[in-house]
Formats: sequence, C-alpha cells, structure tokens
Amino acid sequence: MRAQLLTAPGSPLAAAELPAPRPTPQQVLIAVRACAVCRTDLHVVDGELADPKLPLVPGHEIVGTVVEKGEAVDRFAVGDRVGVPWLGWTCGVCEYCRGGQENLCDRARFTGYQIDGGYAELTVADQRYCFAIDQRYRDVEAAPLMCAGLIGYRSLRMAGDAQRLGIYGFGAAAHIVAQVARHQGRRIFAFTRPGDRAAQDFARSLGAEWAGDSTSAPPEPLDAALIFAPVGALVPVALAATRKGGTVVCGGIHMSDIPSFPYRILWEERVLRSVANLTRRDAEEFLALAPQAGVRTETVVYPLSEANRALTDLRNGALQGAAVLVP
Ligand SMILES: [Zn+2]
Ligand SMILES: [Zn+2]
Repeated sequence: MRAQLLTAPGSPLAAAELPAPRPTPQQVLIAVRACAVCRTDLHVVDGELADPKLPLVPGHEIVGTVVEKGEAVDRFAVGDRVGVPWLGWTCGVCEYCRGGQENLCDRARFTGYQIDGGYAELTVADQRYCFAIDQRYRDVEAAPLMCAGLIGYRSLRMAGDAQRLGIYGFGAAAHIVAQVARHQGRRIFAFTRPGDRAAQDFARSLGAEWAGDSTSAPPEPLDAALIFAPVGALVPVALAATRKGGTVVCGGIHMSDIPSFPYRILWEERVLRSVANLTRRDAEEFLALAPQAGVRTETVVYPLSEANRALTDLRNGALQGAAVLVP
C-alpha cells in the first residue's frame, strides 16, 4: 500500500510502499477514503511530542470502509463505513479507565502516534475505538469530525453553560465548535491572528457575532474562552478577557510556553484548564449531535502524496477549515 511515512521527527514525510497491515482479532482492516490533517500531526512531525512510534504513518481523523475483520470483531461488518479517532486503545483497568476518564489512561495508545494511522491507503484499528458516521456526511466532510470535532466538543463541554464564548484560533476545531455552540444558543466571539480578515469573515459566516484580532479585547467580558491556537501567550490574554468565575480551556496537545502573568487575572475564581484526548462517550455524543446541529465542515482536499504540502499550509495558517488527504 502507498503511505506517507515519518522516519525522523523534524524531517518531511516520505512516500513509501508498505506491506498491507493485518488485523488482529479485535481489529478491522480499513480502506482509507479520507484522513483529515490535525495540528497534532504537525506537533508529531515537528518533534514537539515525545517518543512517537518510528517509522510512523501519521493521521488520526480517518474515515474508511471495513474490508476485512479480525475473528473477534462484532461491532462492524465488511463494507461498513467507520471513523477512527485519536484514542486508539486503553487498558480498561487503571484508575482513570475505571473512573470514567479513559482519555487519561496511564497506558493509552493513540492513532497516528503510537499506532500507525491514516496517511495511507489501508490501516487497521481496534473495533472498540471505531465509530459509525451519519450518512449525510460524505467521506471528506466526515473526516474533520473525528478530531477537530471531537476535541472541540470536549473543550466546549468544559466551558459549562457559558453563554458568551470566546474562541481563540479559528481553524478546523473552532469552525465546528462554533456551529455546535450556535445550535446551543450561545454567543460567539472569535479571535484570530492579528489582521487575518479572511479568518474573521469565516468566523462571522459561521455565526460569530464578533470577530477580531487576538490582541484586541472583546466588546463584552467572556463567560468562557476556548484556546485552539498553540500559542501560550494567548492564555493571559484570554484570562484577562474572561469574567469573574469564568473558565479558560486550552484545547491543544502542545502550546508554546505561557508567559508569566499577574495573579489578579486569575483571581476571582477564574478557572484555567486543559483538555486531553477524548473518551469514547465524547465520540458517541458528538457524532450523534453533529448532524442534529446541522454541522457542516469546510475542507480543502489534497492527494495523499501531497501530505507535506497540507502540513505546510496548516503550519502557515493558509487554510480555511480543515485539510483532508485522499488516497
Ligand atoms: Zn487505563
Ligand atoms: Zn487531532
């Protein structure tokens, strides 16, 4: 099969011809139809996340068709369409797994990081971490739901019932979260790189009532803020824009260092927290909610062979919505 392979962090992916993977008893073999490109892939490729499997096939927003299944597979049949997210395996016995926090499992393994992912024609995935996808989404449209959508949804959940919601970084996750938040009747304030008028227009087109530079203050204090840009300097900015008792949620897996800031912008019971990974419950809930909420995804399609170009465009902020690779 054709694949894009990471052999050393910090160097570009290389086109490779690999043997087709074989499913173990709990795995399905999947013909990949689409795989979205997540900022986490950039962090893996750039060496900002420690100890990836090497060589590695990246990609954890996979949509494909089951073409073969292991002997214990009972959730899916050959021919079914499935989505594969970042959470690839959990132990089921650690205190986190037993306590409903499998996203924090001590021995969790992640797709496109410790497990080969979807930058390929074929992949294998544990059936217990695969999900059905609503028919109204085409393969390319569905792919960004599998991480931008899921992690965005988990981040939004952590904002509680906040009405005035700030979103910092208006990329793939934000463009999905904004639609869900609007469906829930929340008000959206979108912050982009300074001067990025195209992203601000994009945010307004998805229901943001205000969009502006990340350096500017919102017209009203925020009840909560979600930070999707990997920029630590946004943490104090978002705290300063958030009302007493409000919450700032960091949705990314990696961020540049957070500069020191005066205690008074955290004082008055503001909460600063991160979101890590996802649970299968998040996936079931979000994948049911997305079609009900009328979530549409904006995608830019690249052939699999141009994975490096997709990563470069994401790095440079030259994309609106989500990049999706098609083999
Ligand atoms: Zn565990
Ligand atoms: Zn991701």
